[in-house]
Amino acid sequence: MTVPARSAEGPLLDVRDLVVHFDARAAMFRRGRQTARAVDGVSFSVDAGETLGLVGESGCGKSTTGRALLKLVKPTAGSVSFQGEDLLATRGRDLKRLRRGLQAVFQDPYDSLNPRMRIRDIVGEPLIIHGLATGATRRRQILELMERVGLSEDLANRLPAELSGGQRQRVGIARALAVNPSFIVCDEAVSALDVSVQAQVLNLLRRLQQDLGLSYLFISHDLSVVRHVSDRVAVMYAGKLAESASSEVLYARPYHPYTLSILAAAPVADPDVERRRPDEPVTGEAPSPVHPPSGCRFHPRCPLAQDRCRTEEPELVEVEPGRWTACHFWRTLKDGGGTTPASAPRAPVKVS
Ligand code: SF4
Repeated sequence: MTVPARSAEGPLLDVRDLVVHFDARAAMFRRGRQTARAVDGVSFSVDAGETLGLVGESGCGKSTTGRALLKLVKPTAGSVSFQGEDLLATRGRDLKRLRRGLQAVFQDPYDSLNPRMRIRDIVGEPLIIHGLATGATRRRQILELMERVGLSEDLANRLPAELSGGQRQRVGIARALAVNPSFIVCDEAVSALDVSVQAQVLNLLRRLQQDLGLSYLFISHDLSVVRHVSDRVAVMYAGKLAESASSEVLYARPYHPYTLSILAAAPVADPDVERRRPDEPVTGEAPSPVHPPSGCRFHPRCPLAQDRCRTEEPELVEVEPGRWTACHFWRTLKDGGGTTPASAPRAPVKVS
């Protein structure tokens, strides 16, 4: 089931039933063939000018989803349509053209920049690769890009190691903007930065979105960061989407126990969310992608789990206009129940 975008013109990006499975033999010391189900049937769409936040714990598959859109990992199944074209089936020149529209900003700006290249060369490299500008035009465009992301001209001859973390992330953003994209995958783009620098970079991303009409897939483990930048939020758990809604709705009244649990780790200044917040963040280990739990993948950690949850996988369904939830008992939270045994309307089953 696809979590749809909202535009009448159709989505800019449309992901359907995306599956990314890895051969996990190496991790299992070659004891037979094992499959890691990193992404296991994820569907969503993003409109032009929209930000979709993709959140979840480390290892839930959110970054693999982003990398699959960028063709940095090969999807096992599913489809990705970008600007109405089938991105996964496109090759050669057409792929190069499509890729210009779909750029990325990664977590560690130092890792993603060549440490031996000057800043001007890093920012200008995409212009060379795509044959977009030469000579004085390229030099001028490089300085314009640097100015657009708040980097002064005198940094152009420096190496990445001579810049702060925030400046390096601005270089990464300038580099992504060089080819005039319409969509940017921001994969934990501010996670390595101090809180004050995070705010500056988030403000920059928002301003660029307004000025250039960009769309973002904003991937993060941090719900409070995602809330500030996202129009809609999709919550991912163990390779699948657990819940999706507008940012406002999802943070005010989550219907999925996992969403409510991770909100416990992300302070939200809303009395209603505070009242429904569980005492503790979600406990226990995230499931192995090699051996995901049967039924609902969240059932071993879910305080509302019942017998049905162990055997029957809940579908992601639109329970209200624009709100999608994959939980057999979503009405429990809708009707005001919490996730603690005392507040849950039905006695939760103890799951070992
Ligand atoms: Fe919890 Fe069951 Fe809902 Fe899964 S389907 S989130 S185990 S109540």
